[in-house]
Amino acid sequence: MNSATVSAKPALINLLDFDRKGLQPFFVGLGEKPFRATQLLKWIYQEGVTDFDEMTNLSKSLRQYLKENCTISTPEIVAEQLATDGTCKWAMQTHCGNRIETVYIPEEKRATLCISSQVGCALACSFCSTAQQGFNRNLSTGEIIGQLYLAQKLLGPDRRITNVVMMGMGEPLLNFDNVVAAMNLMMDDFAFGLSKRRVTVSTSGVVPAMNRLGDVCDVSMAVSLHAPYNELRDQLVPINIKYPLDQLMDACREYAKTGPRKHITFEYVMLDGINDSQDDARKLVKLLKDVPSKVNLIPFNPFPQSNYRCSKKATMLAFRDTLHNAGIITTIRKTRGEDIDAACGQLVGQVKDKSRRHLKLQAAAGNNHAA
Ligand code: SAH
Repeated sequence: MNSATVSAKPALINLLDFDRKGLQPFFVGLGEKPFRATQLLKWIYQEGVTDFDEMTNLSKSLRQYLKENCTISTPEIVAEQLATDGTCKWAMQTHCGNRIETVYIPEEKRATLCISSQVGCALACSFCSTAQQGFNRNLSTGEIIGQLYLAQKLLGPDRRITNVVMMGMGEPLLNFDNVVAAMNLMMDDFAFGLSKRRVTVSTSGVVPAMNRLGDVCDVSMAVSLHAPYNELRDQLVPINIKYPLDQLMDACREYAKTGPRKHITFEYVMLDGINDSQDDARKLVKLLKDVPSKVNLIPFNPFPQSNYRCSKKATMLAFRDTLHNAGIITTIRKTRGEDIDAACGQLVGQVKDKSRRHLKLQAAAGNNHAA
């Protein structure tokens, strides 16, 4: 056969990959008006329609074009685990065979969905089990918003998701464009319509991306701090070596000025004997002195191969009191979904590691063993 006659069918365009700003030029390129973007968003996200034939305010020829060239494709839910406290964890399979995890956390007055942004994580925070999985790739916008789309569909209209936190697997700000587009969809009145106070991006401190974010997307920000001085933070959150605390605090101060909450939430995992002394608490007070802050102390959640222990209850309370007495609003996070490994830092999915981290870890374990 003449190879020129074999033409591969081009891949279908996943319409979940675009926010409104992305859909408008797509439709204009087809000779349509930009408002087709809002019509399509409403069909997909508000009416839950996936069959193009049912999108009756689009012309027949446009529907035909969409049918032939486009798709509305989400990851596939392959497992569901329900914890005794009502927390629900879904494993979702992507088209390339990796698995990511999404967690639904119902509370009295709100319901939060914790969403993954990458398959695995390229950062090597020493106390986080996602980090042990290594890294495969960034999730597409469709795979990120698809987690919310699927979860809400399963939960139904009586159990509306009111808050989203980008605190699942991965470092959201290292997948900047796709995460921003997905967060735009979360906040778009024609899609999920969540307020910007209810969409939170959590970062380990990717300073240049934090600075850029303020210009393009107005969401609440949480920073995984975990240590009040560089020497310790270099060990716990190694990206600190690249973007040390003075740079991080500058970025926080700037973001707080324009961000919707006018403060930054700092996450601080409580590690017994590592970062939980009164001296650490005082150093933290000093560090946050001129940054509008709230602090969220997270009890460390253990996982296999972790060498850390959670701080003692009394130590956590004393740590909180020191911050509190210095005028910093401080909460101790209630651990949720522990019995199904759905708590912070316990999301692992199934990652075809491309960073070869697991090999390095195995080698290190072997060496230790030999020694
Ligand atoms: N990479 C982003 C998003 C992950 S958010 C970030 O670092 O912010 C997940 C939160 O849980 C982070 O604050 C992370 O530091 C914290 N965490 C990770 N492992 C944990 C563990 N074993 N116990 C408690 N919290 C953990």
